[in-house]
Amino acid sequence: MQTSITTYDDKPHEECGVFGIFDRQAKAALEVYYGLFSLQHRGQESAGMTVSDGESMETFRGMGLVTEVFRNFPGKDGYIGIGHVRYSTTGSSIPSNVQPLQVDCAEGPFALAHNGNLINTAPLRQQLLQSGADFQTTMDTEVIIKLIARSRKAAVEDRIKEVMGILRGAYALVACTDHAIYGVRDPFGYRPLVIGKTETGFVLASETCALDAIDAQFVRDVLPGEIVTIDDDGVHSTMYEPAVNHRRAICSFEYIYFARPDSVMNGQSIYQARLNMGRALWEETHYDGDIVMSVPDSGNVAALGYSYASGIPYSEGFLKNKYMGRTFIQPDQKQRERAVRMKLNPIALNVKGKRIVLIDDSIVRGTTSGIIIRMLRNAGAAEIKLCISSPPVKYPCFFGIDTAERRQLIAAKHSVEEIREMIGADELHYLSQEGLAKAISCLRGEDMCFACFDGKYAEPLPESMEARVK
Ligand code: SF4
Repeated sequence: MQTSITTYDDKPHEECGVFGIFDRQAKAALEVYYGLFSLQHRGQESAGMTVSDGESMETFRGMGLVTEVFRNFPGKDGYIGIGHVRYSTTGSSIPSNVQPLQVDCAEGPFALAHNGNLINTAPLRQQLLQSGADFQTTMDTEVIIKLIARSRKAAVEDRIKEVMGILRGAYALVACTDHAIYGVRDPFGYRPLVIGKTETGFVLASETCALDAIDAQFVRDVLPGEIVTIDDDGVHSTMYEPAVNHRRAICSFEYIYFARPDSVMNGQSIYQARLNMGRALWEETHYDGDIVMSVPDSGNVAALGYSYASGIPYSEGFLKNKYMGRTFIQPDQKQRERAVRMKLNPIALNVKGKRIVLIDDSIVRGTTSGIIIRMLRNAGAAEIKLCISSPPVKYPCFFGIDTAERRQLIAAKHSVEEIREMIGADELHYLSQEGLAKAISCLRGEDMCFACFDGKYAEPLPESMEARVK
């Protein structure tokens, strides 16, 4: 089941962030807290952590931001911990759907947190129900943990491998027992996962910014199809064999929008990739203007890239209200305009009489671009040329990102010229897919996923999803 949450913005939403630590000298709960805090941008609806001291395991979860959920954390501590922040795409936004999930296996407790989205949840859930399983949540994560718990294999890694053989779709997992933590990436590598090192232990995280937050050193990315085990003997790696030489489909939207610009993914700084996108936009447009400005914050770095490449000065055009949090907007236009205005207010001094090259990262439904352009015109802008640092979003994502249904995507139904007219820009240009692929210079084009732009999904979709693509 998908939620239908409408927010003031018009952005795709990341599903989750995950974190894990194994460190005999650490207070795991505190480290997980800081790790999750730095991954907050990947999910703001709920948060949770599981901590073990080697003897027993406890999971604490709640709705809200990391600071809110753990305000009353009961204080269980240990040297093993995993955590999760969530924005729901599969399963409703309700307390029972908060992660990590914890179950009791024959060998002891086992907890799991998941970033991604399976595409074969329904048949797997059905099979489990038929074999007597009882579900407490509506999440695909519960399917994964139940399959692992039910496996007859002895070693956790073998259980995970067995389950990887039947899962389809996107999953970056962190899991723990009372003596180890585990990190797993699906064979396509849709969602990120990295390994870090503290002075006395190891860490797993969705992004390197979470390593920086706890003063851990980056070791490497977990490979697509890899299972990493971290215990008292260090880091052990085992590959799910069919993943060797498997096609990769690393999410290009992580580089455009989701990941924090201070993170490094697959060897490339997200900041650098966004600068490259801005430069590529300049190469593709050569727009003339008095200032380059961004729709903050997600357009900031690409706007700098455009400014550096063009020589047009970068200027702040909006004041962003940082205290908004998540705002649920009313369906009528007036309230929507008010919500955007509460979030962003033009700085008239910088805007009045100016020919503006405006940079944003994406247009999904097209609900806010027109409002932003009207606000700039009302503040006296002479001309607004809008550049988008991604190609038009025309297809839904089934791999852990909420991009809305195809019928809601403005670019699925309208040409670029029609969209330009609808939002009232003087010019509108989307970065080409080639330009985007070049900007993400650490990866080969064929190793990336661009499916929300070109509809070429890396794996066959089940019939129910195919229908949603039409
Ligand atoms: S469809 Fe788009 S958002 Fe989803 S994984 Fe692929 S590139 Fe990322």
